[in-house]
Amino acid sequence: MKIDGVWSAVSLAEARTLYGMMLKRCPACHGQVNIAGNYTPGGGYKLQHRRSHSGCPLTPAAFSGTPSRHPQAVG
Ligand SMILES: [Zn+2]
Repeated sequence: MKIDGVWSAVSLAEARTLYGMMLKRCPACHGQVNIAGNYTPGGGYKLQHRRSHSGCPLTPAAFSGTPSRHPQAVG
């Protein structure tokens, strides 16, 4: 999350409700992300990369095993 020019870590629920329209990046790979709007009981909000990235451990489905920075990292 970029708040007043400073990157800050916030919870997904906070990011969604307080900062819905602001620029958000993945805490692991710094790629740009969206927060999925469908809240599910127990699951909470979901972080979604705008562009999937095999070097991000936060997306186990796509993760190659080697963490690396997103090719289109922001910040
Ligand atoms: Zn990521």
